[in-house]
This record gives sequence, C-alpha cells and structure tokens, in this order.
Amino acid sequence: MRERRIALLGVTGSIGRQALEVIDATPELTVCALASGSQPLDKLAAERGVEHVQVGGDLTDVLEASQPDVVLNAVVGFAGVRTTLWALEHGVALALANKESLVAAGELAVSAWKRGGGLLLPVDSEHSGVFQCLEGRARETIEAVVLTASGGPFRNHSRDDLESVSVAEALDHPTWSMGPKITIDSATLANKGLELIEAHFLFDLGYDRLDVVVHPSSIVHALVRFRDGAMLAHLGQPDMRIPISFALTYPERRATPVSTLDFSEALELAFEPADPERFPLLALAREAGERGGTYPCAFNAANEVAVAAFLEERIRFVDIAALVADALDRVDGAPAADLSELVGADEEARRLAAGRVATT
Ligand code: NAD
Ligand code: MG
Repeated sequence: MRERRIALLGVTGSIGRQALEVIDATPELTVCALASGSQPLDKLAAERGVEHVQVGGDLTDVLEASQPDVVLNAVVGFAGVRTTLWALEHGVALALANKESLVAAGELAVSAWKRGGGLLLPVDSEHSGVFQCLEGRARETIEAVVLTASGGPFRNHSRDDLESVSVAEALDHPTWSMGPKITIDSATLANKGLELIEAHFLFDLGYDRLDVVVHPSSIVHALVRFRDGAMLAHLGQPDMRIPISFALTYPERRATPVSTLDFSEALELAFEPADPERFPLLALAREAGERGGTYPCAFNAANEVAVAAFLEERIRFVDIAALVADALDRVDGAPAADLSELVGADEEARRLAAGRVATT
C-alpha cells in the first residue's frame, strides 16, 4: 500500500479518536489535516506535526488546502454535508462515518459520486458489513439486505416505561460505546432508520429490499439474502476500529488490535423483530425514504433538533418521535436541485421542530 494522507474530520469524537488509533498502528497512513466543530486542536496538531487544521466553519476549506488522498468524515450531523459532497465531487476516496450527510443529501451525493468516480467506503459497521458481503456479487443475485439493530437500552421497556426514561438511561448503550447523538438515536431506533436510508443510497437498493432485525448481542452486523435463499452474514466484535481500518486500508484489510470472537464461551445469536409501536422513528424514516425528495433531509433535521432538546432535558424521550412526525407532516418535501435548496429544507424542518420543542 502506498502512503495515504488522511483528512480526519471530527477527530475529537468517538470515531475520530478510534481512527487515530488505527492510523497510528498502520505505517502507510498519515494525517494531513485535522478538524473539529469547536474543540481546540493546537496540541494534537503540534504533537503530530499536522499543518492543516480547522475548528468549525466550512470544512471544505481545510480539504482544499490539504488535498488529502482520503477524507474520513466523522463529523456528527448535517454539518458533515459539505465535506461529503466535496470528496465525492472531486473523486477523493471518502471513508464515511457521517451517515446524516448521505441521508440528508442522498440524491446530490449520488450524482456527485457518479461525476467524481471515487471510492465511497462506509464506516458505519452495518454498511461496512453489507459492503463486504456484496463485494464481487452479481447484482441480479441479490434479493435483500438486512441491517441488524442492538435494540438499544430500552428494548424490553413498555410504552409506559418509555414515558419516563432519563437522559442517563438513554445514554447507557448495551453493546456500543459512541458519541451522545448516535447513542440516543440507537435508543429510539432512529439510528436504524437513518441507516436504512444510508443503505438505499450506498447500495442503490429500493426500500422493499431493505430490512431491519433486532439482534441484541451486536455480533452479526449485516445479512445479505441472495435469490437462491442463501444468506451471508458479517460477524465480529462490536468495535468500530474494524470498519474504520477496513475503510482506511481498503482493499488490503490490515491487522487491528481487536480480539476475535471467543467460541470457547457461549455466543448469543438471537434475532427478533423491531416493534414499530414502541419505536416509531424506524417506520417514520422508512416512510421519509420512500417519499424521497427532501423528506429524508427533514427527518434528519427534526431528529437532530429533538435529540439535542432531549439531551438538554427540555423534552421527554417519547417526544422525539412526536416532534419528527409533526415536522414531516408539515414540510413540503420537494426535491432540492442544489446544496442551497437542501440547506433551505434542512432549516425549515429545524425551525418547525424547534417551534414544537418550545411548546412541548
Ligand atoms: P461525537 O459526538 O463523538 O463526535 C463528533 C465530532 O464531530 C467531534 O469531533 C466534533 O467536534 C465534530 N463536530 C460536531 N459538529 C461539528 C461542526 N459543526 N463542524 C465540524 N465538526 C463538528 O460523534 P461520533 O459518535 O464520533 O459520531 C460521528 C459520526 O459517525 C456520526 O455521524 C455518527 O452517526 C457516525 N457513527 C458513529 C459511530 C460510533 O461508534 N461512534 C458508529 C457508526 C456511525
Ligand atoms: Mg451503525
């Protein structure tokens, strides 16, 4: 593998920190640019001799200045849209953790990807698993992709119980250790909804070929069903360093320090359906995806506002879904012809959701 210069966006976050570990363990990977939303990066940049650094603002500036070989987009939320589009448009390999950008800007991203012709490697563990199961398969043999969900900390809570769960309980994820926004999304199952839409754009599959199953131990990350009835599964420890390393060293698949599954102990491979009554955000995301246009963008925007309000203890856990449903009812959802129209759709959904937060 030749040297790869990586622009690491969102370096101070959960994915960003794990990516640094992977990069440090792989001699050909170097960091050429670092970015965060608001945390200062002077110390980190000085320690590593990184010249290009940006804190906040339009992060395409640091990409233009550093001209990386790979962009690792590990920013959280819609803030990752511009850099996703930049990498795809320029044909620069994109290791994508920031699922919100593909959900919100799916159509624009896919056309930029087609024009740019570069690699788009998913870092999201389920999509990394699907990507690996699909590699080298003839398209017409693929019947469906099934994403697994841990079910989150409230998998066995009743609807009544959900009314009173606390922020601390929602942040206590049973299998994955992640940033706060995605941890709440995992508790509501909005994360799996975002991932359905992400899979639709990444793998060019209709929603009728995308499914979700709850798998509490998070050992199986993805399943692909073929037309002959066979299924391939992707298994491994729930540890993000595996998909991060896969994306950054693709197609070489370098060694990682992650332990393998231990078959000398019993492993739980249980599966159960997701409950739409208690976790309505999954169905709302699917519906937004099927409606297309800027509905997925609105779903994402309203969800970001609602999750932030829940984390600030301004609304209850169950209000998150109610706020998103309300915003989706009120937006027009018309397709966005360009980034400025998309930003308009994002702002409109945020405004509607914020209005509801104020009156909840
Ligand atoms: P995090 O909250 O731990 O970190 C977010 C990073 O984004 C921080 O470095 C922060 O400074 C930066 N950031 C926030 N707002 C920004 C802005 N406006 N401009 C520039 N940078 C900004 O989040 P995380 O858990 O590392 O998740 C990052 C992304 O990866 C999310 O999209 C998440 O859905 C996705 N993801 C995370 C995991 C995981 O295990 N953490 C797994 C799969 C996918
Ligand atoms: Mg995931």
